[in-house]
Amino acid sequence: NISMSPATTFIHYGQSLFEGIKAYKRENGEIAIFRPQDNWERFNVSARRMAMAEVPKELFMEGMRRLIELDKAWVPGSVGSSLYIRPFMFATDEFIGVKPADNFRFMIITSPAGAYYNKPTRIYVQKQFVRAFPGGIGFTKAAGNYGACMLPTLETRKLGYDQILWTDGFTHKNVQEIGTMNVFFVLGNKVITPDLSEGTILAGVTRDSVITLLKEKGISVEERALSIDEIEDSYKKGELKEAFGAGTA
Ligand SMILES: *Cc1c(COP(=O)(O)O)cnc(C)c1O
Repeated sequence: NISMSPATTFIHYGQSLFEGIKAYKRENGEIAIFRPQDNWERFNVSARRMAMAEVPKELFMEGMRRLIELDKAWVPGSVGSSLYIRPFMFATDEFIGVKPADNFRFMIITSPAGAYYNKPTRIYVQKQFVRAFPGGIGFTKAAGNYGACMLPTLETRKLGYDQILWTDGFTHKNVQEIGTMNVFFVLGNKVITPDLSEGTILAGVTRDSVITLLKEKGISVEERALSIDEIEDSYKKGELKEAFGAGTA
């Protein structure tokens, strides 16, 4: 447990961020962590946007490696299961005024995990609430991004849907992400996912892996703006074949 002053600044002003990584047990019993260096880089992308200290690679990678070494008996071996690794950092200045903090705490915790989504989900196209806006923090794993999505997610569940398909804040036409996952649509023989140019999409490591694997298989992938109208037209023409979310969880 953490003992801290009630004036600790992250509680009030939200300088807090995290990462999510998985370690898997290989058939030979070895433990493999999936692309953790990408998460270290993204952690510092988030840190810069939130005016927080960047974490040195050695501390992030070696700290994680040693924790997994300690926790290795907790890495489950069954198909689809893994050890979820959660690095996080928050501002620890004890100060009531609004200013960027000078002190931060970086920690890593782990938790055994099963498959998160193991059935088809019902999706609601959200046109009232917005997750991310150009110029905002949608591309970061800042804590506040998730806090802001709790109410929309609750409301969506009340309507009988599992998850939200987020749309852009200007037109509510272009799709962004699905819940806390990157989204892909298979239209005809192309796989389409929103591009990262506006800073409203979290640059998923899984997203990148999916794109790389598809391209290696010779399947055409387009990273571009994709509207609900285009998806609807494709559906009517019988070209919408599949839609899926991609993320570590
Ligand atoms: C973490 C996250 C993702 C997925 O990123 P991965 O690196 O693939 O786990 C996608 N969207 C949001 C909003 C996220 O927080």
